[in-house]
This record gives sequence, C-alpha cells and structure tokens, in this order.
Amino acid sequence: MKIKNILLMFGVAALVFSCATNPFTQKKTLALVSNSQLFPTAFAQYDQFLTENKVVSGTKDAEMITRVGQRIAVAAERWLNANGNHGYLNDYKWEYNLVDDKTVNAWCMPGGKIVFYTGILPIAKSETGVAAIMGHEVAHALANHGQQRMSAGMLQQFGAVAGNIAIKDEKSRNAFNQYYGVGSQVGVMLPFSRSHETEADKIGSYLMAIAGYDPAEAAELWKRMKANGGGKAPPEILSTHPSNDSRIANLKALAPKAKAEAKKFGVTTFR
Ligand SMILES: [Zn+2]
Repeated sequence: MKIKNILLMFGVAALVFSCATNPFTQKKTLALVSNSQLFPTAFAQYDQFLTENKVVSGTKDAEMITRVGQRIAVAAERWLNANGNHGYLNDYKWEYNLVDDKTVNAWCMPGGKIVFYTGILPIAKSETGVAAIMGHEVAHALANHGQQRMSAGMLQQFGAVAGNIAIKDEKSRNAFNQYYGVGSQVGVMLPFSRSHETEADKIGSYLMAIAGYDPAEAAELWKRMKANGGGKAPPEILSTHPSNDSRIANLKALAPKAKAEAKKFGVTTFR
C-alpha cells in the first residue's frame, strides 16, 4: 500500500511536469514518456515487426506505399516549418513498408515508422485512398496520440513512473503494441478517443492536400471502411479508429478547408 502511494505521488508529479505541446493545437498534452525515450523503443519494435512479417518489396503496390509516404512526410515538414515548428521532425526516421497480410490495417509508430497491410489496399482502392489513410495515421504520430494513450495507461496502472519505461519483456512489449494498435495477435486493441480521431482527421486531410491528393477522398474512404465493417469480420483498423456518420460528415466539411490550406503551399491541383 505504501509503495502504491509513493508511486501515485510520482504519477501526480509526472502529470504536472511531463507535458508536451501539441504543435497543431498548441494544447498541453500528457507525456510521461518523452519522444527521446519512446523513439528508440518504437524503432526496435518496428524492426522486430518487420522480421516477423512478410515485407512486400519491388511491387507496384510497395512502390506506391513508399511514394505516398514520402509525399506525406514532405507535406508534414513543409506544414510544420510554415507554422514555426522547425526541427520538429529531426528525430523522425521515416520508413514505409507494405506487409503481405490480409488484415485490414495500417499504422504509424512514433518517429514515422509506417506499415500498411495488403488487406487494406482493396478498401483504399486508389493511391488517393492510401494517402487518406497515411495522412490520418501520420497525424496520430505527429500529434503524439499514442504517447498520450500510453502515458494515461501508465498512470492508471501505477506500474511505471515518468522516465522509467523499459520495453524489454514480452508483457511490456505487448502493452506497447496495444497502445499503438500494432499487432493483431496481441488481442484487444485500444481505440483512439473521439477527440484524437477528430484531430487526426483534420491534420490528415491537410497533409494529404498539401501532398497533392484530393482530400475529398477521405470521406469516401471511411464510407467504404464503414460498409466493410458490417460484415462478420470488421476491419482491424476500425477497432482502433471508431468510425461513424458524423465523422464522415466532418471529413467532407474539412476537404475545402484542406484545399485552401494547400493553396498556401502552391498546391492547386489534386490527383
Ligand atoms: Zn485514427
């Protein structure tokens, strides 16, 4: 009991002192784990994931994932720089991989480590659909949503305090993957909150537009995702990204705003 109280105190202190500023909203967010601690863990987890899965390379689809990823990364850098956030991506080590897996999923780990599953490509339907997913997933990473979920989870469990995460054993690895929606083997994935989804939709729409992709496709994509979710095996991605009609309406409303933002960067035609 005594130890738990001490941990609780640490937790509260960490709450007060460990905040990061979201460059998109200027809001302070909970960050018990700093990116400098998180990135090496994420990079190691990513490499591990790639060794355990079948990476597709040299195909048209694999090349498309890389092409879209590079364009979204460039768009993110331009947008952040234009808004006074120079150096925000300094520790990012962007990587884009396609894995041969029927799971309908895609994610971006902290630090820009992206995986698309071949199972999501039929729903993405086109390069623009891929860009909508990529923009959204990258947005979660840029806004540190996974970091906030992990920090909240750590506080709940009182098992870890600020500055002290060690992802070495199987159990903590699974916990990490759960916060980032990485593995389908792990079991229950934690959904992003509604506010995180809304934020990622907004940032994602802007990124895809600045990258030259028509942001109107985002609403169409999530319509297809939702239709696919009616079957007996809802896509994995819907367990971490709850979707509904108001979200789709919101994405539609965002499209013209995203195009207006892209115009500031000289982008006026969209594929
Ligand atoms: Zn999401």
